[in-house]
Amino acid sequence: MLMTSQLFPSSLKGCMSSKNYMREGFSLGIESTADDFGVGIVSFDGEVLANVNDVYIPDKGGIHPREASRHHAIVAGRVIAEALRRAGIKPKEIDVIAFSQGPGLGPCLRVGATVARALASYLGKPLVGVNHCLAHIEMGRMVNRVKDPVTLYVSGGNTIVSAFEAGRYRIFGETLDIAVGNCLDVFAREAGLRPEPGKPLGAALEELASRGRRLIQLPYTVKGMDMSFSGLLTAAVNLLRGGKYPLEDLCFSLQEIAFSMLTEVTERALAHTEKVEVLLTGGVAANKRLQSMLRAMAEEHGAHFSVVSKEYATDNGAMIAWTGVLCYKYGLTIPIEKSFVRMKWRLDDVDVPWFGAH
Ligand code: AMP
Ligand code: MG
Repeated sequence: MLMTSQLFPSSLKGCMSSKNYMREGFSLGIESTADDFGVGIVSFDGEVLANVNDVYIPDKGGIHPREASRHHAIVAGRVIAEALRRAGIKPKEIDVIAFSQGPGLGPCLRVGATVARALASYLGKPLVGVNHCLAHIEMGRMVNRVKDPVTLYVSGGNTIVSAFEAGRYRIFGETLDIAVGNCLDVFAREAGLRPEPGKPLGAALEELASRGRRLIQLPYTVKGMDMSFSGLLTAAVNLLRGGKYPLEDLCFSLQEIAFSMLTEVTERALAHTEKVEVLLTGGVAANKRLQSMLRAMAEEHGAHFSVVSKEYATDNGAMIAWTGVLCYKYGLTIPIEKSFVRMKWRLDDVDVPWFGAH
């Protein structure tokens, strides 16, 4: 059972079993920023009742936004019905409809937004537009019981080092070009890795990397607090095509260099902010090597390290539903006519009035 002790009155604690909720409310959240179409249902006190996901898998190559959006439109009805079935509640029992409003791929975001608007207007319920990056952090804080961390959020589309300061999650470092997950995926595809269905490319690369021994020189690019992964990717792909090095060593070296960059920037943010917690989230958080590098760094600074479990670290509807609860409690609902998607919506543009409350 998941709940938060920091955000809501202690009177709510301990009064829930899986089908015996203190009836305070339910939020339904829709995630559709990229390849995942997810629907989560979360109670107002933070219990996840359902978290259903259907991922678009391209026949070949990376995510094609129009194809992914078509996938989302096809599976939407079934995923929503399955989430309601698992939660054991009826549509009219939902109190808030939340959707990821950005950042993300336009066509994919629009499907989620359209479905959310339709549900909100049909059910007569308030609508909340959630910032996707914020949702990753808030879900991590809730499920890992972390208060005020430096967060490294690493996924197929984002690479962000952030921490809360003066009303917002400030971005201390980010990628200047491609996301680290994208870098790993493109290299894995170039190398012809074909993971079994359901297994991400990054995980297949991790497996090979664990058998690599030799560190091959590759570009390490940290500029100020920001990182660049495109030069690293190009150099690794060129070496791969050259055929001189074993694939295991290339995978190992690519991971070592990319993760060292991430660890360096996270460490500097930690030293600057003097926070005492480090949180790792996003799809790439599943990587054991990245986890161990960050854990060692956090421990050296006397900070507590935690990693969000896979279900809530990769894109998912529950994190949108939960952040929808926080926004709703603070009056941050939006009228349907202002619910346009925001493809470039930055994390540091969002007010976080609930932070530190209670
Ligand atoms: P997300 O964008 O949050 O849905 O996460 C997907 C990204 O996580 C993709 O780039 C995956 O390749 C990556 N990923 C998943 N598992 C691993 C892993 N074990 N190591 C590295 N990357 C991973
Ligand atoms: Mg995804």
